[in-house]
Amino acid sequence: ATANHLGGAEAAAMKILKYMEEPAEIAGQKIKIGASLGVVMFPEHGEDATILMREADTAMYYAKQNHSGYRLYSKDLGLEKDDSLSLQQELRQAMLDDELILHFQPKIDFNENRITGVEALVRWQHPKRGLVPPDKFISMAEQNGLIKPLTHYVLRKALRQGEKWQQAGLDLSISINVSAVNIQDPGFPAEVEKLLKECTLPPTQLEFEITETAVLSEPERAVACIKKLSALGIQVSVDDFGTGYASMSYLKELLVARIKIDKSFVKDLAFNHNDSVIVRSTVELGHNLGLKVVAEGVETKEAWDKLKSFGCDAAQGYYMGHPLSSEDLTVWMQQSPWGLKKADS
Ligand code: C2E
Ligand code: CA
Ligand code: CA
Repeated sequence: ATANHLGGAEAAAMKILKYMEEPAEIAGQKIKIGASLGVVMFPEHGEDATILMREADTAMYYAKQNHSGYRLYSKDLGLEKDDSLSLQQELRQAMLDDELILHFQPKIDFNENRITGVEALVRWQHPKRGLVPPDKFISMAEQNGLIKPLTHYVLRKALRQGEKWQQAGLDLSISINVSAVNIQDPGFPAEVEKLLKECTLPPTQLEFEITETAVLSEPERAVACIKKLSALGIQVSVDDFGTGYASMSYLKELLVARIKIDKSFVKDLAFNHNDSVIVRSTVELGHNLGLKVVAEGVETKEAWDKLKSFGCDAAQGYYMGHPLSSEDLTVWMQQSPWGLKKADS
């Protein structure tokens, strides 16, 4: 907006907001939607589009945080912005600047006694803050809608790396953490299908890890989404199993391939009797339901041996290998006692 059009811009903002108040009807369901708008003035706030868009973004985040509908940009907004708000904006930019990197942690199959897959774990290579772990930004991204582009980004990168390993002749599946927000998003399966079409990695080499709580928050939508993903050939696992309040009945309905026992039960497995009982029973439960069972957080040889004696199918943890960059992991795999399998052998 230009200065003499401020009134006009405000009127337009209010008009849009008013319009957005009307519930939208999607597939016969009335859905309440909302909007937050940021308003900037040309040329007062800047003379080029990049600057203006960034300022509009700042103003929009203020409107969003204060639920004020719309907000006019001012310089003070930039100064008074708190750490989390600046982190949000930095995360957006980080994706554009390709500052997010993936580390990969090996999964070892007990029966085959070899590395059969890797889990992709995102990190943020921040120019000032250093390597930021996912715990610092994933939940923020889930709250402000950034998780959709983030998952897309991670998926694209992971598929590209999977292709490289495939071209090197390695038979490895790639696991990706998929958030509750993604699994409730009806557009997600189609987005995944499109990415898969653009790459040579078969869908069966791709695994999605979804937490119990993600499924439980809106079971019907999650089930519909998981069914579509399974139909594409993707393996779906329940992550952090045991930490939610899942009823066992949903496991049958879900078409999941695997459950991943949470590391809190696995870490002290060797000397904690209760954990040992829980893990052994979970392996049995999974098998009785026809599912594979994976343990995460295996830190010691004792835990490894116990899991093996319980008949657990696969394991992941610091005892075997930490998450590493793709280059480091490629080197590690060549020297690891668990070895690899060439795709054609
Ligand atoms: P998670 O899915 O449970 O991932 C396993 C976490 O446990 C990883 O932490 C990994 O480094 C750590 N870990 C692996 N082995 C061991 C072990 O032996 N002992 C212990 N104590 N910890 C172990 P990280 O990489 O910090 O990731 C934390 C969480 O962030 C993940 O938990 C996952 O929920 C989330 N996350 C990571 N990458 C992504 C992503 O691309 N998208 C989404 N939506 N979430 C992600
Ligand atoms: Ca996981
Ligand atoms: Ca987990």
